[in-house]
Amino acid sequence: MEFENTIGLETHVQLKTRTKMFCGCLLKTGCEPNTNVCPVCLGYPGALPVMNKEAVKLTVMSGLMLGCEVNRHATFDRKNYFYPDMAKDYQISENGSPLCIGGGVEITRADGTKKFIRINHIHLEEDAAKINHYAATSGVDFNRGGTPLMEIVSEPDMESADDAIAYLTALKEMLVYAGVSDCNLEEGNMRSDVNISIRPVGEKKLGTKVEIKNMNSFSGIHAALVHEARRQRECMAHSIPIVQETRRWDPEAMETASMRSKENAHDYRYFPEPDLVPVELDEATIEEWRKLLPEKPETRRARMVEEYGIAEYDAEVLSQHKENADWYEAAARGLDKKTAKALCNLFMGDVMALMNASGKTIGECAMTPAALASLVKLSVAGTINGPTLKELLPEIFEKGGDPEAIVKERGLGAVSDTAALEAFVDQAIAANPGPVQDFKNGKKAAAGFFVGQVMKLSKGKADPKIVGGIVAKKLSALALSLVAAMLVLFVGCTSFKPQQACMFTDSEGNIVSVEYGQSKRDHVSKFTAPNGKVLDMKTKLGVRVTLPDGDGFLAWECMNSLPVGTMYRTDNEKWLYHANGISCRVFKKAVNPSTGQDDYLEVFEGVICEGPKGDGE
Ligand SMILES: [Zn+2]
Repeated sequence: MEFENTIGLETHVQLKTRTKMFCGCLLKTGCEPNTNVCPVCLGYPGALPVMNKEAVKLTVMSGLMLGCEVNRHATFDRKNYFYPDMAKDYQISENGSPLCIGGGVEITRADGTKKFIRINHIHLEEDAAKINHYAATSGVDFNRGGTPLMEIVSEPDMESADDAIAYLTALKEMLVYAGVSDCNLEEGNMRSDVNISIRPVGEKKLGTKVEIKNMNSFSGIHAALVHEARRQRECMAHSIPIVQETRRWDPEAMETASMRSKENAHDYRYFPEPDLVPVELDEATIEEWRKLLPEKPETRRARMVEEYGIAEYDAEVLSQHKENADWYEAAARGLDKKTAKALCNLFMGDVMALMNASGKTIGECAMTPAALASLVKLSVAGTINGPTLKELLPEIFEKGGDPEAIVKERGLGAVSDTAALEAFVDQAIAANPGPVQDFKNGKKAAAGFFVGQVMKLSKGKADPKIVGGIVAKKLSALALSLVAAMLVLFVGCTSFKPQQACMFTDSEGNIVSVEYGQSKRDHVSKFTAPNGKVLDMKTKLGVRVTLPDGDGFLAWECMNSLPVGTMYRTDNEKWLYHANGISCRVFKKAVNPSTGQDDYLEVFEGVICEGPKGDGE
């Protein structure tokens, strides 16, 4: 018989308040045990709880973010039980009338299909104290006791361990986005109990559900669900009844083990908390809190495309992490669209690579948004050249500083005076008759040598694009060749070391210059899988491609290589390059006019006329 899973999650999220749920004790981690305590959170008889308004506000904001209906009249109840981590022998929770009802989140599965996971309700409660076990004794630390916890209870709408992880990931992203919690799993401020049952495919009635506790990571939840689903199927196959119980996940044995038979709600003898008044929420308050919510990610994406003229894809990647999007907007605000777009390209490429390499978030680096904006403005205005930009960026990322002052102080301004550059080119040509002869003999790559010479003569301050143009013009005059005019060489990306250069030509004689090479260290780039998971990809191999119109890009070998040949892509996935040793194809990401969707459109297809065979190996 075929069985299907029904999975529901109860997710506890610690709210980002300054003080505890029902007293004024500070919420701080890393303190000596039992130092942030008072008669209320220690559960002394007669101590009276006082509700934390901020916790109510953050729960309502979460509900609004998740599309829940806000309960205008919510009440607290006592959940009675005996356990050493709750000295008063009851927990203040919401049983009958929780703060938020309904709502849900949409998940995207690996195959691209979407499913809406419904939320039953969100209630607010206090956390228990923490029990620490030592060699011979155990101790109770009440510092955690009374922490405001929001419990988000889903409907059993998930069908697999993957669904559960997609749901938790979506939940976490929204709650962090709204600023209601850090959702840091390692620090325990997001914890999930899962319940799972199986039923024959087609059966409407739910099977007997088993709850699993003791999981503190997404991978633990995934493994526990996979194993429990298998265990229940084995029980069914051997006619062993599945009992309603709570099981714990043993990460070492990789199995679930029975903990206790499951209590029912009536075991807790819930009754209304007599020491707290109901929470009465009026429309004005709810509206005031709604206004505090951040712009929804999809609204933000559309606005960023409109306001800064950046690609939809870039806006999507930026808005995935609120911190990145906020930082980018702080830098781009007030810039013209051309500069804002250049800033986006730099952020998506080099800045994100620096974040990866250093393990720092954008907020942790020393560079301010104003500094990056100033650096990009200098580059767009032609005050500094590309190599100088690439040289200054890591330094400012690491140590901070004002780019304008640094450029002035060190005299890094670009030499763009054509007469001065022409003089350098003449000087380089006169001093190197050998390479000139090579060029005349048809070795077009020799043009690159002269660009390099001029960069040296100008102490790196020449604009390599302008130099490329002058070199091409002068050499063409010497060799009466038009080929060089097609060459606009990119120089100065220090992380990439070209090892072989070659050229491709299309049917119209247009030339694409390609350099194969590798970076000194592993190049790490982010790759977004269809389920939204961001993976790190490591490679050393890359190509630098210069198109006939002078546009160019640096692309890295990627995982999705085709059966024939190798695929490379840029960090921002704007370009793809595919070569099989005989021909090359270049694609650019753009809106496909026939579908209106983002697509990779071919901009160049050509055959190798010179250079390495077999992908440059
Ligand atoms: Zn207290």
